[in-house]
This record gives sequence, C-alpha cells and structure tokens, in this order.
Amino acid sequence: EERLKLRPTWLEVDLSAIQANAQAIMQTTGAKRLIAVVKANAYGHGAVRVGQALYDIGVKDFAVATVGEGIELRQGLVATDIKISLLGVQPAEHADIMAQYHLQPAVGDLDWLKVAKSHLNSGQVLGVQLAVDTGMGRMGAESLSELQELYSYIEADASLYLAGVFTHFATADDLNQNYYDSQLQKFMSWVQTAGIPEEYWHLANSGSALFHAQQIPTHTIRVGSVLYGYNPGAPLLTSPIALKPAASLYSEIGAVHQLQAGQSVSYGATYQAEHPQWVATLPIGYADGYNRRLGGMNVLVNGQVEQVIGRVTMDQIIITLHQNEPVGTPVVLLGKSGQNQITIEALADYAETIPHELLTEFSARVPRCYR
Ligand code: PLP
Repeated sequence: EERLKLRPTWLEVDLSAIQANAQAIMQTTGAKRLIAVVKANAYGHGAVRVGQALYDIGVKDFAVATVGEGIELRQGLVATDIKISLLGVQPAEHADIMAQYHLQPAVGDLDWLKVAKSHLNSGQVLGVQLAVDTGMGRMGAESLSELQELYSYIEADASLYLAGVFTHFATADDLNQNYYDSQLQKFMSWVQTAGIPEEYWHLANSGSALFHAQQIPTHTIRVGSVLYGYNPGAPLLTSPIALKPAASLYSEIGAVHQLQAGQSVSYGATYQAEHPQWVATLPIGYADGYNRRLGGMNVLVNGQVEQVIGRVTMDQIIITLHQNEPVGTPVVLLGKSGQNQITIEALADYAETIPHELLTEFSARVPRCYR
C-alpha cells in the first residue's frame, strides 16, 4: 500500500479473522442480528474496510460514536441497505445532517428531541435509538416514566421514528454478576411495561455475549471487542470461544549499533548497558500509538524475545538484540513470530490499561494493511 507510506511501520489487519469472530459469536449466542460496533475507526482497524468485510458476511447494522464517523461509513459502504446508529450524545442541532445520512442517534432526553426536531428540514425523518440508563450513568431514560414519555413522543411525531431501544452494561466482564443482573432486570421491566416490542431491543455487548449468553433476551447482539478478537474480561475471565486476534503491529530494524558497558540510551538515560550489547533502533514511537508506558515491553525478532530499552520516544524506540541483525529485519510488536506471540491483552496489562485504549491509539500515521 503506497510502499507503506514510505516508512516500514504498519498495522496488519486480518479481515477473515474479524469475519470468523463475528460468525463464532453469533453461533454461540444464537443471535440472528449483529450490530457491529465500529466506532473509533473500528477500534483502530479501519471502519470502512471492517464494515465492508462484515457486510460481505451479511452484517447490515453498524454503530459508531459520532456524526463524522457515521458519514464516513455511509459514504465508504456503498450498499444502501445498511443501518448506522450513533451511540454517543450528539449535538441536536445536527439533526438535519443525521437525517440526510440516515444516521440514527441515541436519544435519552425529551428536550434533545425537541431541539433536534426544530433542526429537521421539511420532509426529513429521523430514526432514533432510545437510550435507557440502567446503571451506566452516561445517557438515557432513568425511569419507566421517562421512557414512556420519550416513547410516546416519538410514536406521536411523524418526523421521528423508533429504530431501537437499548441499554449498556457497566460490568458485563466482571466476576460479580449482581450489578449486571440489576441492569438487565431494570431494562426488561421498563421496556416490557412501556410496551416496546422485542424486535427493537439491543443490549448485549462483548462481555454479555461471552459471559452471559444464556441471559440475552433478544436475537440481537451489539458487540465490538470480540469482533477484533480479544476478550474484554481478560485476565480474570476466560473466553468460552477461541477468538482470533485481527491486528498485528510490525516495524523493521532501521539501524543497529553496539553499546559499550556504561553507555545509556534514550531520554533520561534511564537504561544503561552492563556489558557490550547489540541494540537496534525502530521507526515507531508513541506518536504512532506505541504507548509511552510500553518502555521495557517485549518485541519479537525472528521468533526471539527482545526488549524495548529506555524510554519510548515520539517516533523511535530502541530494542535489545541477541546478535547483530541486518537493517530491514522485521520486528513484531503485536502478533506472532515463530513460537512466540505478543497479545493485545499482554500489551494492555503491561501498560496498565485495556486493549480498547491501545488499539484506538494507533494513529493515522500507521498505515493499515489488509489481508
Ligand atoms: N454498546 C455501547 C453503547 C458502547 O459504548 C460500546 C463500546 O464501548 C459497545 C456497545 C461495544 O462494547 P464491546 O467492545 O465491549 O463489545
């Protein structure tokens, strides 16, 4: 791809892994409809390419976070039979643009609907995803009466239509089930009492699909992480299905040199060689999304484990080498090499964060290659 934007650092995305993960999660949950969460550029994997690959296996529902992401997906996926919902709170004054691109915003507030309506052009209709706040505390109807009020307002207005009703779980990948159960129970009792038909409900995220499959009350799941092949419950909870990681991060040795005992590398001179040793410089840094907290993490060179030494800088890192290696030798920062593998869960654990964050940090400067 354009000779890797003239720079040998790239993220390889295995689209067939994403397709296989989607099929596996539908099979284990018995779901008939999958809303693919492709916000934040499909968790860094590339929203349009991932969307197209999922469309090719029959997925027609997508969710993103912002109007801009929705427009990018709508324009990128030429198929006309896809639905796109917007999961975050949107500026109500952009309702006309949402209607124009057939984007269905999450809505949990009557005033929002009134403002949005006033910004629709004549003849425009807006499909809305009714949000129910059962414990996430971000957005949505917070009581049965609020839900009923929103639902009847939408039903009564010709410029609005109900596209879905949903809630989001705060603890689906926790060992303790109590909070999950209370959210589920609240959602069920409210939507049933409000008389919203089941075909509109969607609530199961990856944690629900993996760890609460028996308790999903609808044929729809709304998942992100599992599509990309990682387990949001790791390391506490083991995935009941074999997920295929879709992303691998590669760079190449750009320069090799030998440190003398006592010589140090990188900012702060935090690493000092104890013996003469070979080291290599790679063209990747925190501006690419190789998080600064990954100093000291492992990388793989010809299947051998090496280590990032000293601080991660904006554009470059330095790694150990067991022996002198030629410039251009590939280095795996995420993925497999020989018998060894560096997983996104391991990187996240090392950086004291979650896989979602590391994946979405891979910046636009890193070319994506698809296979
Ligand atoms: N639903 C909503 C409302 C979300 O915000 C997200 C992601 O954060 C998801 C579903 C997908 O979550 P996961 O990646 O855990 O499947």
